[in-house]
Formats: sequence, structure tokens, C-alpha cells
Amino acid sequence: MAKGSLTSQIKNSPYLLLTNIGQLATLRGEAGPRRRAALSDIGLIQDAAVLCAGGRIAAVGKQRELLRDPWLRKKLRKNQRKIQEIDCAGRVVLPGLIDSHTHPAFMGPRLIDFEKRTAGATYEEIAAAGGGIRSSVAAVRKASRPQLAEHVLHGLQAMLEQGTTTVEAKSGYGLTAKDEIKSLQAIHDAAARWPGTVVPTLLAAHVPPVEFAGKEDEYIEMVCQRIIPEAAKKRLAGFVDVFCERGAFTLEQSERVLAAAQRHGLGTRAHVCQFTPSKLDRLLACRPASLDHMDCVGEDDVALLAERQTVATLLPGANYFLGHREFLQARRLIDSGVAVALATDYNPGTSPTPSMPFVISLACTHMQMSVAEAIAASTMNAACALKLAARKGSIEPGKDADLVVFDFKDYREIGYWVAWNRCAQVIVGGEEVLAAN
Ligand SMILES: [Zn+2]
Repeated sequence: MAKGSLTSQIKNSPYLLLTNIGQLATLRGEAGPRRRAALSDIGLIQDAAVLCAGGRIAAVGKQRELLRDPWLRKKLRKNQRKIQEIDCAGRVVLPGLIDSHTHPAFMGPRLIDFEKRTAGATYEEIAAAGGGIRSSVAAVRKASRPQLAEHVLHGLQAMLEQGTTTVEAKSGYGLTAKDEIKSLQAIHDAAARWPGTVVPTLLAAHVPPVEFAGKEDEYIEMVCQRIIPEAAKKRLAGFVDVFCERGAFTLEQSERVLAAAQRHGLGTRAHVCQFTPSKLDRLLACRPASLDHMDCVGEDDVALLAERQTVATLLPGANYFLGHREFLQARRLIDSGVAVALATDYNPGTSPTPSMPFVISLACTHMQMSVAEAIAASTMNAACALKLAARKGSIEPGKDADLVVFDFKDYREIGYWVAWNRCAQVIVGGEEVLAAN
């Protein structure tokens, strides 16, 4: 860091200084998806400090170098109250975790489905018998917007407590124009009461609602002609998503949904290859920011994906909760040059966890990812999956000051401890929003 460089960046904004960071994972580097060997370079600095000003990162470096800055030394010497200092006591600091795939707009757990599964039924069998996604729909349709917002906020709060500061949040349990719009509005209402950043996604094409049984094309028509235009007009969604899967929507129907999103200026993403393989070329033509699940993606498509900016978002929480013995071998994707992100898939049917550290642990224990790779996939690459890499995903000057202090001495502990929340402090936009006990 150049001496005397701080004054011009700080001006009169409130600032926060994190000192005595044992290990700081900066994720510095190009603001694009990290691939192959670059995925494991998390820009680690030992004995670091970070200065935040005006909600942004102002300076990052070795503590002894950063504190040598004449302007900062003067301020600290005078003990001006304007500088809030957090002594990290040798712990680990990471960029705020980014959960780029969640379904928080639901009202409660699906315990009847869960009991059927513990008795041996598969997810697809339960869905075919009227359970699955459809069993969350009645409660969401009945709920008021404030009631639904309360449930969304509950989920967001649980995520924050585990170190997540940016969340992609989908609708998808309303499945009528009115209830999908209500779900997006509830996501906005919850986001306004939550300190982190929320990226809302319209997932009206989650499954065909029962009243459209045998008339799936008519439902897709309604999604394309009515729901997407309304969500775009009211500025309720940044992205449109579709569940391209047996029992949900065909490739052709999915393509229609994503093309309609593009016509209305919205970003695209898709759930694909979770239970059955699909060809990706036609979906990729709609320039999706991410393709998610990807458990049974074919070899040809892996090569195709490696040439694209589209991120493959892997959701091992669903494999875990559904008791799948096979986890996607992330190694194959990473070694082929695919940009890979990790997310929770927080939802009441297949992945009821708000915890990114748990997902990181699963990636390490079941998917052959190193801890460093899993961290990059949960920060920088997840930011790319949400088109937010210019602001989020790394701790570099100019970026949003979203940081998490974990009660570890070594960053690798985030993949090591299981189901033990070690998140100690969360800073969002340069403000401490979750304090150490
Ligand atoms: Zn999902």
C-alpha cells in the first residue's frame, strides 16, 4: 500500500479498522470467475488489517504496513472516536459469503414429505403423488404479504448468523400471477429490513401448478405473457429462473421462459441436470448467469461450459438431504475449466439449511474440492453468478465492505468443522451487524 494514500479515499465518511487478523482471505485478482488453479488462490495475507470507509474497503494489507500510513497513524494517535476498531484477536476474516441460490419464500417445513422419505420414498415419487414443491404452494397462496415477508426475513437472518451477506432469493411457491408477485414483494419487504444484499429472482416456472395439469404449455404462456412482464415492469426481479427437469418443465418450455426474460431485460438462470441429463446448448444461447445443480451434466456440455462466462452452481445440500449416495464430482468440472460456485439451495423440500459453511464442508468431504476452492466458489465465483463481481466477492479497495470474522486460527477450519457455527462477527457495508458474544 502506498504511503499517504488514505486521505483522499476516506474524506469524512465513518470508518472501521479491523486489526490483528490472523489470516485474511482477500480473493484479490481479476473481477471474473476463477477457474482451474486460479480457483485455489484465495489471496491469503497473514497478520493483516483492513480499513473500511464509507461502506467500502479503503485499504488492505499487512498490519504493520497498513498502520504505517501517516494519516492513519495521526488519527489513531489522537484516538479520534471516528475510527471504530475491531480487534480480530488472530482470527480468520473472509469476504462476506454469497449464497447465490435460495428459495426462502415459503411458510413452513414439509414434515409429511420428510416422514415419507425417512420411510424410503424418493423425492420424485413424493412429488408425483402431489407432494414436493406443490405441498408448499397452498400455504404460500393463503399467506398475506407481511406473513410471507416474516418467513423470508427469518431465513435471511439465519443465513447472516452463519456469515452470509449476499443472497439470491427466488419466488416459486405461489404459481399464480398474484402469488408470484406477492412472493417477490415479500422478498423485497424482507430485504429492506435486512442489512445484506438480496438479489430477487422470479421462479414462476418452478413446477406446473395442479390446476394446469395436462396444460403445461398454457401455464408457460401465462408465465411469459403475464408474470414476467409484470415482474419486469414493477422492477421486482433481477433474474428469471426455470426448473428444467422431468416432472417440471421441458427444454423447449424452459427456453421459452428464458427468452421471455431476455425480451424484458431480465437476467436468466436455470435449474438443470439435477435428476436427469439435459443438453445445455439451447439454454446457453439464452446467456444464463448460472446453470444450477448440474449433477448429471454430460461430457460434451462440460467442455462447452468451460468456454462460457456462465457459472455452474453446485448445490450439495440437496444431495445430502435427499440421501443421494452420489455427489457431483466437482473435480471434473473444475479441472475442465468450468467456473464453479457453491450455494445452499435453502428450501423446504430438498435443502433446509441456511449454512454456507455446511455447504463448504460438504464440498470438501464429498466433492473433492479443497477448502480454498470452496471458499472462492462461495465468494468471488458466487458474485459472478449474480453479476455482482464489480462490488462483491473479494476484499479489495473500492469493493463493498462486507466481511466475516470466523472463530478460527486457520481458514481451512471452515471446511473442517461440521454443523458448528463458528461465525463470530459480520460486517456489512462497513458496519458491524452481528457482534461477537
Ligand atoms: Zn433450487
